[in-house]
Amino acid sequence: MSGDRSADTAAHAAAHVASGDDAGGPAVRRLAAWDAGRLSDLAADHGTPLYVTDLDRVHENCARLRAAFPDAEVRYAVKAHTGRAVLEAVRDAGLDAECAAAGEVRRALDAGFDGDRLHYTAVNPPARDLDAVVDWWADESDLTVTVGARDTLDRLAERGFDGRVCVRVNPGVGAGHHEKVRTGAAAKFGVPYDRAAAVVDDARDDFDVVGVHAHAGSGIHGEEDLAAHRELVARMGELAREVGDLEYVDVGGGFGVPYREGDPALDLDAVAEATREALGEVDARLAVEPGRYVVADAGVLLTEVNTVKPTPDTTVAGVDAGMTDLLRPAMYDAYHAIRDLDASPDRETGPVTVAGPICETSDMFCDGRELPIPDRGDLLAIGNAGAYGYEMASTYNSRPRPAEVSLAGEVLRERETLAGVTRLERGGDAE
Ligand SMILES: *Cc1c(COP(=O)(O)O)cnc(C)c1O
Repeated sequence: MSGDRSADTAAHAAAHVASGDDAGGPAVRRLAAWDAGRLSDLAADHGTPLYVTDLDRVHENCARLRAAFPDAEVRYAVKAHTGRAVLEAVRDAGLDAECAAAGEVRRALDAGFDGDRLHYTAVNPPARDLDAVVDWWADESDLTVTVGARDTLDRLAERGFDGRVCVRVNPGVGAGHHEKVRTGAAAKFGVPYDRAAAVVDDARDDFDVVGVHAHAGSGIHGEEDLAAHRELVARMGELAREVGDLEYVDVGGGFGVPYREGDPALDLDAVAEATREALGEVDARLAVEPGRYVVADAGVLLTEVNTVKPTPDTTVAGVDAGMTDLLRPAMYDAYHAIRDLDASPDRETGPVTVAGPICETSDMFCDGRELPIPDRGDLLAIGNAGAYGYEMASTYNSRPRPAEVSLAGEVLRERETLAGVTRLERGGDAE
């Protein structure tokens, strides 16, 4: 399977040379740029709803990050998309892995990340997660645990852990496209800024303290977010100078992607420049840990229109994907571009509401958006579905989770079955 992919990558690289792009590809990949014929073929072969992931685009996004932050450690926040093929692509591209739970650590290990490229961010870690990670640490002694409370340090010590630790700080500033994704200012995450130096000091008695860390939240995009980011970075620089003797200062992820068709691409070089400037002189490496930026525009969700209902205000297009497959619109009011792959340019347009089959009002991908009026059977593509898409999928309404294929046509995840959904319950297969 890796053979397939490298052949595919080589073909893609050749295409880039031909089109003049460097290894990082264009700054953004819009939904309009996906090959409609290719997507239609994949839907015909594998059914819908279907996630399609372009592994070459994952590579390009990694390459652009590395080019923008040449001296920094770039870590992929794997929770954005933890599929095996994506993890392998990121590993090949040279990024480290930032994991939010023991399960993610295990999957990163299985995908070939060595301990020295693994960072486990322990947020209120369940005992079984700590047990597991400390167990793996016995073989991977270079892995780093990022802790956000003294209490977590105590629990690590109780388990005999005396390895690499990074202290997560609550910087008191947050960025983000929705209040639910602003983490920097929430007390839940990190030790309070004014106690951070003392916690680092204490931790040094029992652990190898290698870094300090803060993550403001998701969606650095506009000027306001960038200002918040600068402030966070400046505070982290100050802290790093105060405590001294660190390997790195990790300023988190949250690099935005343009979800709306007209939004400009994130100016990654400007973010990198602002980050270096705000950090100031520190005797430690900069580290960043983007998730969304690596995978968002590498994925689309394909769904078929099964019901067309004209109403006075809008045409409701009922589709076979729902909030169970892509939760972001329901959870964050997130905007995702939608393209009717079967509509010719002369198709009449009007307000369209794309709604899923779940018995929830919020099960909608757009409401009254100007789109071609769909026909039953049309295939719709939902853009920027690569980040926090499949990862947040659920089986609500007894809906098996969708399949995922690579753009090259390799099945990355089989479509879940109803037996898979019920196997753990009384009378299920697993009993
Ligand atoms: C989620 C998360 C990230 C990545 O956020 P993105 O918005 O996907 O870039 C990075 N660091 C930590 C600690 C996170 O929880």
